[in-house]
Amino acid sequence: EADEAAAGGMLTIDLAALAGNYRHLCRMAAPERVAAVVKADAYGLGAAKVARVLHAEGCRDFFVANLIEAVRLRPLLAPGARLFVLNGLLPGGEAACAALGVIPVLNSLEQVRAWSALAVSRSVTLEAALQVDTGMSRLGLSASELETLASDLSGLAGIQLVLIMSHLACADEPDNAASPRQLAAMRGACERFPGVPISLANSGGVFLGPDFRGDLARPGVALYGAAPSSGAANPMQPVVRLDIRVIQTRTVPAGTAVGYGGAHVTTRETRIATLAAGYADGLPRSLSNSGAAWFDGKRLPILGRVSMDSLMVDITALPDGALPPGALVELIGPHQTLEAIAADAGTISYEILTRLGQRYHRHYA
Ligand code: PLP
Repeated sequence: EADEAAAGGMLTIDLAALAGNYRHLCRMAAPERVAAVVKADAYGLGAAKVARVLHAEGCRDFFVANLIEAVRLRPLLAPGARLFVLNGLLPGGEAACAALGVIPVLNSLEQVRAWSALAVSRSVTLEAALQVDTGMSRLGLSASELETLASDLSGLAGIQLVLIMSHLACADEPDNAASPRQLAAMRGACERFPGVPISLANSGGVFLGPDFRGDLARPGVALYGAAPSSGAANPMQPVVRLDIRVIQTRTVPAGTAVGYGGAHVTTRETRIATLAAGYADGLPRSLSNSGAAWFDGKRLPILGRVSMDSLMVDITALPDGALPPGALVELIGPHQTLEAIAADAGTISYEILTRLGQRYHRHYA
């Protein structure tokens, strides 16, 4: 982790807001029914710290994407917490998964067979979640594969099913008819496994209504302050603030090319600040000539292309000397939400968060 003076920017992560967001989701979905998705290092914010805060709020169920994340996080989690691996088992990973004591999400009959074979060969019972594909065509057993399994339970020998889950493809669009279709498919699938807890909702799913919340909701992005649904006002508290340092400033006449490819040419005398972060710090190159930084309530448009380690902004609107070297300008914060910078970059808040990178000084407030 970069120390403050050495870093080109400061990433402030508000752990109280994170905890507040968790409590907000618990009020909607009932406590003890809200897990936390902490894959991709908790969407870039630090899985160990995030898990510790949420555990203190009562969260006992955590989801990562794959086994390497589980290897890193399991030793840092409290012993009683459960850790699920969403991508499940890749061939050869079964023994490591069992040794770690994490719960794979079994996504195919092959994965079920491999997990069952390991349990039977060791004469132990191994916990697992089962994923059903209810319409996303990404991971999980098809309805007919589920039928195969349900009609001959010997296929689950040695396996204790602790969760049956599916994932919503369009949960962020409140009026999308795909979600009720997926809910109906999920209910049909779960009838075959009575008594096994059900998990369907991601962040957006929690806001689709009580029917979608099931026994265990799996929010990710809403915990981290991003909007769970498109359109409506964001009910979550912001968690992330990103400020970037000024390296130097200059004043150039009209007609001056700025940055790689001369992709911006000034149309008037322009004061430019060069900021100490670029696409290697997760600021998408697609912000070139489109995004902005903010200072003192003023929008500072990005001029030209975003470089690997720096970018230029127009500070003509600010008084002379307002931004000396080392001054911080806002990229994500009260003037520019995650959603706003994502929209300027032509992407989604998830991609902005998960790519923030390791060169910022991280301040956990
Ligand atoms: N469940 C699964 C299977 C996921 O892949 C994800 C993330 O993409 C989540 C839950 C959390 O989704 P969100 O961040 O939209 O709440």
